[in-house]
Amino acid sequence: MTRMGCKTEQWYEEKARNLPWRETSDPYLIWVSEIILQQTRVAQGLPFYYNFITKFPSVKSLAEASEDEVLKIWQGLGYYSRARNMMKAAQIILKEYKGSFPDSIEELKKIPGIGNYTAAAIGSFAFNIRIPAIDGNVRRVASRLYGLHEPIGTPNSDKKIEALLLNEMQPCPPALFNQAMMEIGATVCKPANPECTQCPYEDVCVARIKNLQKILPVKSVKKAPREVYLDYLFINAEGFTWLQKRTTDSIWKGLYEFPNIQNTKNSKDVNPFQDWFVNNEDTQMHKPFTIKHQLTHQTIFATLWQFSCKEANIVEEKIQDKLRLKLSEIHAFPAHRLMLKFLEKVI
Ligand code: SF4
Repeated sequence: MTRMGCKTEQWYEEKARNLPWRETSDPYLIWVSEIILQQTRVAQGLPFYYNFITKFPSVKSLAEASEDEVLKIWQGLGYYSRARNMMKAAQIILKEYKGSFPDSIEELKKIPGIGNYTAAAIGSFAFNIRIPAIDGNVRRVASRLYGLHEPIGTPNSDKKIEALLLNEMQPCPPALFNQAMMEIGATVCKPANPECTQCPYEDVCVARIKNLQKILPVKSVKKAPREVYLDYLFINAEGFTWLQKRTTDSIWKGLYEFPNIQNTKNSKDVNPFQDWFVNNEDTQMHKPFTIKHQLTHQTIFATLWQFSCKEANIVEEKIQDKLRLKLSEIHAFPAHRLMLKFLEKVI
């Protein structure tokens, strides 16, 4: 039986997809799923979720894992700061909260990587706290449902949406309401061509009534991505190559890649490694190639300079503080997607 005034309950029970993290109120599993699903579609995130909770079934196992192990499981998902923050968060939960997630929104938000949305999701799904969880999908639904013309994604607009949804969720169980809003956004109120006839809000939605689905939501203006030029060095010497671990504070911190230099412009015709290697009978340079790699805030033009050398020891003298590996061993180390694209081409 559905609650009086709760428009989403019956719809959710009949139409929602069965997803593994919806069957649990364990805050650890909910947290893992929420972090994986940030910037990631459900179909892509599902195998990562299963691998992650199999390898790290508890806060303790994650807190005690090495960075390499966690980044390896995360490999291919992108936005690696999520994985690094999860490790830090697990260590804090283990040390300061005796291994159990805190059950208040304020305490949850003190944990690295847990912002307003994730705190609300964990708070409502695991602890039944009455607070709307507002992600991109929910912003779109709310903007259309209430006919909001203000650009979405700003703190002001989120506050308005939170107040409206808090009122809307009153007759509903908090977890069900939040799950339903996300589900409506993901499966019915899609960015293009929303399926209004399938929506529980069809009869009251302002965008539906006024035919504003194509106009709403109004998006905030985004900055154009910055262009970044990177030159990578791939050496094959007697079946060995050299990698380095990125230690600087960047999106790829902790991942392994070929030695590289950042340039201000595309150095396609200028070999930045020419001081390291001379074309002679011991060293041969092969044709470099460039890959364009798109991230949310950066467009990366990465050129791979390839050399083969007769003796690994000659290379070792020139290239210091790098990790010498057999080519067959590279795949054991966590790497970003651009590095995987290089590996596909050269190995
Ligand atoms: S009625 Fe249509 S536009 Fe309105 S919330 Fe539902 S799917 Fe979105």
